[in-house]
Amino acid sequence: MLVKGLTETRDVVVVGAGIAGCMAAATIALKSNGKVDVLLLDRNTPSEVGKKNTLGWVCGDAVGEHHIKYVHERTGLSYGLPEMENHVTAVYVFSPDMKVRVPFEGPGFVLDRPKFGRKLLDDALKAGVDYRGNVQATGLIAESGKIVGLEGQTAGTGANEQFEIRTKLIIDTSGMSTKLRRNLPIPSYIEKDIDKDDVEPTARLNARLRDGVEVETSHCDIYLDQEKAPGGYLWLFPKAGDKVNIGLGIQQKRTHKPLNALLKDWIATDPRFQEMQPLSDDSNLSGAWQVSVRHQNDCLVANGYMVCGDAAWFPNPISAGGIGPGLIGGVMAGETAVRAMEANDFTEKQLWQYNVDFVQHYGNKTAGLEAFRLYLQTLNNSEINYGMRHFLSAKEATGMSLGEMPELSPVQKLTKLFQGLGSYRAFRGLLYTMDKMKKLNQLYQDYPKEPSGFEAWKRQVDSILQDVRMRFN
Ligand SMILES: Cc1cc2nc3c(=O)[nH]c(=O)nc-3n(C[C@H](O)[C@H](O)[C@H](O)COP(=O)(O)OP(=O)(O)OC[C@H]3O[C@@H](n4cnc5c(N)ncnc54)[C@H](O)[C@@H]3O)c2cc1C
Repeated sequence: MLVKGLTETRDVVVVGAGIAGCMAAATIALKSNGKVDVLLLDRNTPSEVGKKNTLGWVCGDAVGEHHIKYVHERTGLSYGLPEMENHVTAVYVFSPDMKVRVPFEGPGFVLDRPKFGRKLLDDALKAGVDYRGNVQATGLIAESGKIVGLEGQTAGTGANEQFEIRTKLIIDTSGMSTKLRRNLPIPSYIEKDIDKDDVEPTARLNARLRDGVEVETSHCDIYLDQEKAPGGYLWLFPKAGDKVNIGLGIQQKRTHKPLNALLKDWIATDPRFQEMQPLSDDSNLSGAWQVSVRHQNDCLVANGYMVCGDAAWFPNPISAGGIGPGLIGGVMAGETAVRAMEANDFTEKQLWQYNVDFVQHYGNKTAGLEAFRLYLQTLNNSEINYGMRHFLSAKEATGMSLGEMPELSPVQKLTKLFQGLGSYRAFRGLLYTMDKMKKLNQLYQDYPKEPSGFEAWKRQVDSILQDVRMRFN
């Protein structure tokens, strides 16, 4: 309960009860056997927990099985029906001419997103987390170079009452719109702002296809097409029965067309979508939101503050998949918070291990994938068709989506092929990108174990990515 006029005190406050926030809060409660007093705040009521904006849980809803396994192994939590709506064996990426398809990232699930959100909250509540809905964090309180609390206001109907909570640690999981990271009031290595070209406007809708239209339910489809989705891609993810989640993400600077117009064009021209019925179960409406497609914030901790999930730019720079990294990052942030409580130390130095864990498990490939995304966005449809037909084997595609570097051999043969088609520019760009990806992947193997090594290391990362941007912008 909020008591007017009194300042509340908590051990840990998690701001934003989406994927990352619920997982971080649940992990703290589970790993501390309920000893840590953790408050999870969100703008939404419990029945709409994790809703991103007024239109709903705007997402493609697909998540890789390996992320779900990781959560189970670390926390014992498990998921099933009804929140895991459909199991798929692969995500296929199709070339613009639809003649080649390659598998990406392996098996996974298509979620019923509102139900998944409520399951995550239920698990957190059962573990002992205290949830408060209808409240909005508005800012952080700093004293002597560390975060010591937050300010907020009630977000439901009626007068917006202001409140303040004092705490040892804040975990910011408030998603892409976070005000907390952007206005972090203490010195730290955390980047506050994102380049607008690294944010993709993305729209989706859930729909029931008309009788007689069948899509294969055993795999998710991603369609590369620089005309229909410039600088991004379109997707069709099968849900239960004859339901689908379809959508697209774009890089806005590559087109004058608004996102919704592109979605309408696709729906109007694809025969599978004629007479389909848009769905609004659980008030999950058609809508758009934004996804980051850069590597994660290279530093995730400051004195008394951690950032996780979309608030820390966790989505994969190529696929924009952020559910998996949000889940595993939430577990890691939660484990770090428990260790900090045990040590009664909430300094950047104590929390640093969260950076190291995240990079080791997931973040070591994302800067490389960001470089690859910058390259990919410069290709036209015929170059993508050609590259996918002649270069990418299924094994290489899966490996690459997981951050592995395929061997380009024999280089001379490939050079001839690309010269033959007049796509030598694309091939040279690919060689250049792969060299930079190798260098970036190597740098992330040496991610600094302590804050003191960060600045010199970060300069090297920034310099490589700056070169890639200059070349492909
Ligand atoms: C159209 C679209 C399609 C996508 N498709 C996929 C996909 O298929 N697979 C995939 O893996 N990823 C996908 N993503 C990305 C994925 O949805 C996100 O990465 C994921 O939801 C991130 O979870 P999160 O917990 O970090 O943030 P969010 O899910 O955004 O949760 C943040 C929570 O914080 C709350 N909040 C925000 N500000 C405040 C505040 N000041 N005070 C209190 N509460 C606050 C919000 O209401 C929300 O509940 C897609 C994204 C979009 C936009």
